[in-house]
Amino acid sequence: LGELTLVPTPIGNLGDFSPRSREALEKADIILAEDTRTSGKLLKHFEITTPMRSYHMHNEHKVVEGIITALEQGANYALISDAGTPGISDPGFLLVRACVEAGISVQCLPGPVALIPALVLSGFPSDRFVFEGFLPVKKGRQTRLMSLQEETRTMVFYESPHKLIKTLKDFVSVFGASRKVSVSRELSKLYEETIRGSLAEVLEHFEQQAPRGEFVLVLQGGG
Ligand code: SAM
Repeated sequence: LGELTLVPTPIGNLGDFSPRSREALEKADIILAEDTRTSGKLLKHFEITTPMRSYHMHNEHKVVEGIITALEQGANYALISDAGTPGISDPGFLLVRACVEAGISVQCLPGPVALIPALVLSGFPSDRFVFEGFLPVKKGRQTRLMSLQEETRTMVFYESPHKLIKTLKDFVSVFGASRKVSVSRELSKLYEETIRGSLAEVLEHFEQQAPRGEFVLVLQGGG
């Protein structure tokens, strides 16, 4: 039997790509990549010549079976996403589940992921937290927010720059303007910063300075 290795890739700083990650990509027979053009640049930079196949949310259901067959025949696969850890708000879960069900060994190397530095930088309790990923954009959004209204643990969300202000406004209506939030942007990159304050203050900040880059929102728990 072959095995599957999930390999984290940098979220903005190539210095975060670990020697073990490089070795895993070099040794794999095939690298499954979310976007072969994006990952092509990373592979080129690190002089990794392993062939790539695309594996993304639009084809994962279709290709999982074939990958499992190849793994059963002894091929070793590595899975990478555009950035960070595969399976975290990125494709990966379906393939891992299929491997577990087929008795194929799976490894996930530790490495870059956006939620952990943002959580730790928030200054909110980090001994317990909930990761909510991206909020639904339309359908189910209000229900999701209401389900968090009584949450006492620190909450972590991913958000795109053009939806950040809308999400902060929705947080004000659900959690109140004085609830504290910490917004980290461009983690590990040149313009990394973390803005902390009440929801009202942080909303005002971004209304004055349009959100740009990649964001993680960390919301203080209630109570
Ligand atoms: N798999 C990734 C991980 O391990 O964190 C997450 C992929 S998800 C499609 C992309 C989102 O992650 C962005 O919209 C943003 O919320 C967050 N993100 C990724 N890189 C980031 C960075 N350098 N700074 C802040 N947030 C980041």
